[in-house]
Amino acid sequence: MANKVFKVFIGIGHGGSDPGAVANGLKEKDLNLAIGQACSTELVRHGVNVLVSRTKDENDDLAEEIKECNAFKPDLAIDIHNNAGGGDGAEAYYHYGGGIGKTLAENVLAEIVKIGQNSRGAKIRKNALGKDYYGFIRGTSAPAVIVECAFVDNATDIKIIDTAAEQKKMGIAIAKGILKTLGITYIAEVDDLADIKAKYEAEIKSLTEKNKALQSKIEQIKAIVA
Ligand SMILES: [Zn+2]
Repeated sequence: MANKVFKVFIGIGHGGSDPGAVANGLKEKDLNLAIGQACSTELVRHGVNVLVSRTKDENDDLAEEIKECNAFKPDLAIDIHNNAGGGDGAEAYYHYGGGIGKTLAENVLAEIVKIGQNSRGAKIRKNALGKDYYGFIRGTSAPAVIVECAFVDNATDIKIIDTAAEQKKMGIAIAKGILKTLGITYIAEVDDLADIKAKYEAEIKSLTEKNKALQSKIEQIKAIVA
């Protein structure tokens, strides 16, 4: 399995004439796109072959998305959404049979919790026929998860995703959950490494000053003894 290039399909929920949930000045289709693109960038940075269902605001119905996903034959598939209906927190749905999809849902939620969002849990949902309720999970061949990041119609819950920086953070959190599921070690961004370097440089400066002070004290004591 050395150097296997994994494939991940990212579905961006809604788009074009279908805005998804709309509330508090936010449209779900826009949030999904920003979060999905950040997720994609992060996966690509880790060598994953990614196919995103849409990269701009356009109509992209679910049947088309499922067709694209199955043709791509990914190792994992995730559909990015945001919620409505007055709840609070993130949740993720997986195939009722469990398996890797369940692991993916749990890993993604664990990372979302780390950025300060609460979790409503990893769940299954069946329709009247006992099959998966959600078409994306029912129709895709790969282990698939639908992640609902936050409730657009909850003025408090949207605070976790109402800026571009926060949408990016959410996308990165989802990517981390995907990478963990694939067994790929997360590598910090170059910006993060620059922060770490700056911290060490400050520590070196502080220790050098302390060392100078001690040296001068030693010289003083030596002068007294001599
Ligand atoms: Zn949606």
